[in-house]
Amino acid sequence: MFGPHDDFLKHTLATADEGVEPSFEVLSAGTEVTLHDCGVLRIEPRIPSDTSLVISCAVHGNETAPIEIVRDIVRDLLDEELKAGQRVLFIMGNPWAMNIAERFVDVNMNRLFAGDWQNYDTNLKEVKRAAKLEAYVANFFAEEPTTVDKRYHYDLHTAIRGSQRERFGVYPFVAGRTLPAEQKAFLARADIDTVLLQQKEATTFSSFTSLKQHAESFTLELGQVKPFGENDLGRYTGIDHALRDLIAGEPLPNKPKRNVTEFEVCHAITVTSDNWEFFIPDDALNFTEYAPGTLIWRDGDEEYRVGDEPEYIVFPNPKVPVGHRAGLMLKAK
Ligand SMILES: [Zn+2]
Repeated sequence: MFGPHDDFLKHTLATADEGVEPSFEVLSAGTEVTLHDCGVLRIEPRIPSDTSLVISCAVHGNETAPIEIVRDIVRDLLDEELKAGQRVLFIMGNPWAMNIAERFVDVNMNRLFAGDWQNYDTNLKEVKRAAKLEAYVANFFAEEPTTVDKRYHYDLHTAIRGSQRERFGVYPFVAGRTLPAEQKAFLARADIDTVLLQQKEATTFSSFTSLKQHAESFTLELGQVKPFGENDLGRYTGIDHALRDLIAGEPLPNKPKRNVTEFEVCHAITVTSDNWEFFIPDDALNFTEYAPGTLIWRDGDEEYRVGDEPEYIVFPNPKVPVGHRAGLMLKAK
């Protein structure tokens, strides 16, 4: 399937610029494997499946631990050491950024989905790729057998910044929906005990599958950015096992095995002028707790202080232009 290249990862890195002719293979169990494109591989079991599963990584090219996990899962499926019980679409999102060990080449790809790529120059690699990935995912769901009644998408990431909560999920906003217990159970199984509920529609990959494809989906932050080969994959066994169980066809439990804390955004921090002052230190970890009354930002007479309950910061970044988001304040739900 991968020609002279050892595995899905090496093949993806090697074919980023040359392009890939689609290829097809049938495993001994009857499982059909289709390589659609560079970094896009589909597994279709012969037995009737009830779930369409999209597992993506490398939407940010330097977030290597999830890429290595996907590489190993694909290897075990092709070697038939892991049973294919559900249909799966595996995606390595940004092969060009992977090759140069950067987050992205021209544009942050995780802001281009849900059709937002249409607002950018379609000659840019990431813009073209986001459009293609949306099409591959849409086709994958559209071609589901009638036995399928569940669509899941897990978009795997690692963060640059450290976190008080090592792993967390971001659940995209879709009006009127709530986080189902079995998805909390998946998070708990994956050793993810924190979930951030978004309150606005976004243009991330997981927002696309939630909003446009009616999938249960998450952006999963699983640890910290490291170069290829330097990840301690022992810190990722939770997500690895949880994904392998799903792929093998094990149903999700109705109840999480342990507590998953839900957070929601209570304040979006925006840089309001050149006089705007920020009182969070540059090295603050995600989910750092601030006590009631703590001053977070000030701009002349305007300021923001933590309310009556503790609040938590995520994604602090004051070095953005006026009018842009400099972080989010959260409350435990
Ligand atoms: Zn990322």
